[in-house]
Amino acid sequence: MAELCVRSVLVTGANRGIGLGLVQHFLRMPKPPQWIFATCRDPKGQRAQELQNLASKHPNLVIIALEVANPASIKAAAAKVGEHLGGSGLNLLINNAGVVKPKMLDAETLEDMTEIYTTNTAGPLLMGQAFLPLLKKAAQGSPGSGLSCSKAAIVNMSSIGGSIASFFGWDIMQVTSYRCSKAALNMLSKCQSLAYKEHGILCVALHPGWVQTDMGSAAGHTPPVTVDDSVQGMLKVLSSLSEKETGAFLDWEGKVIPW
Ligand code: NDP
Repeated sequence: MAELCVRSVLVTGANRGIGLGLVQHFLRMPKPPQWIFATCRDPKGQRAQELQNLASKHPNLVIIALEVANPASIKAAAAKVGEHLGGSGLNLLINNAGVVKPKMLDAETLEDMTEIYTTNTAGPLLMGQAFLPLLKKAAQGSPGSGLSCSKAAIVNMSSIGGSIASFFGWDIMQVTSYRCSKAALNMLSKCQSLAYKEHGILCVALHPGWVQTDMGSAAGHTPPVTVDDSVQGMLKVLSSLSEKETGAFLDWEGKVIPW
């Protein structure tokens, strides 16, 4: 299996949970990326303390302000990343930021549906659009004709909760607004894979497992998977992907999840 070997990666929602875990694993790689763009809503605030500590020790880690529900913030972040990269492209965009409201179906509102969809679905759409020029540049600058995450890729952090066939965890958490947003994110991932294939960009929807984070624990249960195991598994999966898997919905162990 080929090593995941990226020159540059961007992770949204990188100040805690799975996003922070991804950043930590990229930093620990034998050949770490030259640029790790860790984005979060408030880079100077208390919630970004761990990222700030890491950035003070690792010059390849750049913290960038990014609110994925705000198109102006996305554009500003893309411009900043472009400046850092100079003439080169971005290999890997990980749309990880996400929100859930632990509610029953009857309690969902128009505001919930809109807010969750904006962050979990529209955010990754706008991110893909804004970073497309940098992803294209990375694809053009990489040798070979196939697709891979080392070359250029968009990874959308989805959830098995968005699988219509599996309806995982319904008894524990109904979270209908969240499920709808992730089902739509799966469709977005498929659309991106179709549109961006010709540019040499691989696109996948990835379920990280049920993971021990604030979100994973939101229903009051302890999830079975640690952040470390989830991230390690996902990075292994990403390293194995080729054009055969673009547009797929996979979990952290590489299993195909039914739509
Ligand atoms: P956490 O709740 O631990 O962290 C969520 C992250 O997203 C935080 O960094 C948060 O920032 C950020 N975020 C939320 N809204 C926005 C926004 N509008 N703009 C920018 N950043 C935002 O979640 P996890 O780490 O558990 O989840 C990461 C991803 O994995 C999500 O997409 C989630 O849906 C998915 N997932 C998680 C599972 C689990 O079991 N944990 C299971 C299946 C999928 P801030 O600190 O500012 O709030």
